[in-house]
Amino acid sequence: MDLNWVVHAVPNVPADVPSDKRIHWLAGNMKKFCVLPWLNLNTNPNGNVKLCCSIAMDYFVGFGKPAKPFNLGYDDIDTIWNSEHMLNVRDLHRQNNGSGDCADCYRMEKVSGHSPRKGQNKMWIMRQENDEELASHLNTITEYDGVNKKMFNTLDTLPLSLELRLGNQCNLKCITCWGMSSSLIQDERRDILRSGVLKEQKLDWLQDKWQDDYDLVEKSEITEWYETEMFYKNFRRMAPKLRRLYTTGGEPTLIKANYKMFEELIAAGNKNCKIEFTTNMTTWNPKFYEALSQFDNVEIQMSIDGVGSVAEYIRYGTKWDVVRENIKKVFEMASTRPNWRILCYTVLQALNYQYVTEIWDVLSKEAEFYKKRVEWWPITLSYPLYLGLAAIPKEDRIKSIPRIREKARQYDSGLANFTVNKDTMAALENSIINIPYNEMYSNQFKGYKKFLDSYRAKNG
Ligand code: SF4
Repeated sequence: MDLNWVVHAVPNVPADVPSDKRIHWLAGNMKKFCVLPWLNLNTNPNGNVKLCCSIAMDYFVGFGKPAKPFNLGYDDIDTIWNSEHMLNVRDLHRQNNGSGDCADCYRMEKVSGHSPRKGQNKMWIMRQENDEELASHLNTITEYDGVNKKMFNTLDTLPLSLELRLGNQCNLKCITCWGMSSSLIQDERRDILRSGVLKEQKLDWLQDKWQDDYDLVEKSEITEWYETEMFYKNFRRMAPKLRRLYTTGGEPTLIKANYKMFEELIAAGNKNCKIEFTTNMTTWNPKFYEALSQFDNVEIQMSIDGVGSVAEYIRYGTKWDVVRENIKKVFEMASTRPNWRILCYTVLQALNYQYVTEIWDVLSKEAEFYKKRVEWWPITLSYPLYLGLAAIPKEDRIKSIPRIREKARQYDSGLANFTVNKDTMAALENSIINIPYNEMYSNQFKGYKKFLDSYRAKNG
């Protein structure tokens, strides 16, 4: 049975909950409720629409049977936003029944107690405290008679938050990446697949996997959808009210359409929209940062997986000295802008779990020099699994813990501009210690690494 099409009874918010606290009640009491179906849309690199970035790659907002994904470059935003799919997802969330779209998020919450759902609910409920229009919009979620499903789930506002992946243009060939997120990886894999070298080396499993990935990217039309008239028409419609624009790539600072969107927001008089982006820090595009400097609220998410040779190996194509310089520039720029936030994410994987403390040293140095706070968070790699922590025997991983703990003590002062707090340490240690070892991934990891090292030594 398709979960999205089941109609359930309406749960009641207790009558004594004041109307301006009903949304807090829903978020606090309903384990499957999330505000994002009323606020947010996300795109894959090919423009196909999903509800949010935490949803599995192929779970789209679609129409027809069999369902075909909507595309932000070719379909009208009103049609997408109030499509049958969105109406059903809203209904399921409002009634705490859970949507199939969000299965990964619910699963994550069961395992770790943390989830994007909890984070998003908290963030948007906090934001409404200083935003009356947003508060009134969120309050409509709690108004429902349990009968007129279509009427109550149809919104007369457009999305207030967008998460966009505009294609795959990138300047790196990261070891964990694939063609959907890096144009250079797609080119490299085309050459490898055509050469037949994987079969020669008895790496048939990798040949099959990369062929599937390659074919999927090739038929995905990832380069044109964000330059269409429809894309800009849709964006202009949303621009005046947009509260959040998150963009990633590829490498977003290289993708022109990103600063074109910034210009559209400025033209719409919306410099207050919060701009968030994830960057690999290997480039400094003056046009991108010039446009960005006009916004009041910015969140720069630096994606750094290592320092020096670790960074250059994992993030293939990286020059660490350049990254180091750009980290400084980010701190310098943000240090005079109180509403700019700096975050740093590290993708925790087989090749770097024991080297994260070197990243802390870099962050701490700049944070103290520029008197600007930075937050660091580890993201456990979930794809491809043969590069994840499961590929390393537990006893080897555990050996890194004493050194990490000792270093963390150096950064546990709540008063510093860079700190490693208990939650961060718990997330880091849980991943290093608890992920079960998998022998198959371990063998695949060794085979993959040996092959890629020798291929790149010869071919660059
Ligand atoms: S429940 Fe999770 S996956 Fe679903 S919309 Fe919210 S944050 Fe995204």
